[in-house]
Amino acid sequence: MPLWLDPISLAAPSDPRALSTTEEAVRGIAAIMARRFGLAVPDRVTVYVYGERRAFEQGLIQDARVSPILAAKLSDFAIGVGARGQVLLYDQPRDRTEREWLRLIAHELTHVSQIELAGGEGRGEQWLAEGMAEWVAYSTLERLGLDALERRRLAATAGLRSHPTLLQNGLDLEARGTPRGFTAWHMREGALPTYQLAFLMADYLIERLGFDRMKGYFASFKSSSDRRANFERAFNETIADFETDVLAHLKAASAL
Ligand SMILES: [Zn+2]
Repeated sequence: MPLWLDPISLAAPSDPRALSTTEEAVRGIAAIMARRFGLAVPDRVTVYVYGERRAFEQGLIQDARVSPILAAKLSDFAIGVGARGQVLLYDQPRDRTEREWLRLIAHELTHVSQIELAGGEGRGEQWLAEGMAEWVAYSTLERLGLDALERRRLAATAGLRSHPTLLQNGLDLEARGTPRGFTAWHMREGALPTYQLAFLMADYLIERLGFDRMKGYFASFKSSSDRRANFERAFNETIADFETDVLAHLKAASAL
């Protein structure tokens, strides 16, 4: 369904009861993202909801124009995809809660916003795109009184403790900056701990430098496609130096 978003005129809701349909949820979350986080959202977003996995795979090919090979792979593990002006959601009524549904919508809408900021898809480090999407999703749930960022930090840090292999061999952020490298990582280590780790890395940057730097980082791809230089300019250190820093920070936090 195509939805016209007009986040400037929309009030950002603070009560999840205002978001009971998918349409209300997309509009309300887009308003929170625009007003509270100053994120770019397109005027119009098309939302597709698929009721079963085969339909989701077909939708990825027909609606998002993903290659059949990638669609088969994505539909195997993904439950949502955010593309340019598009959100594709795989609805699993059996095991989804309202909070999980809203988290998924906020996560995928963040990818839509990153694409708006960067002027195209697949720009920016993939682990950072995923970590920021989780950070915005949890912050949105916090605004709706459904979750707390601090609770998610603690859960993610506990996740590091129970998945020691995540940190054992280093982070290899250079390789995991591409969609393919990130996917290989979470296929090996498991989606939940890998996304939690990506969240903690984005959170570490946002806590130290502020959320505006994160937006500025994605926006910098409009004028330069140099991933390394864009990262260094936005966050004042190279990806390699950040990797050393954040690894020490995560090891210390998870050893507590
Ligand atoms: Zn994502």
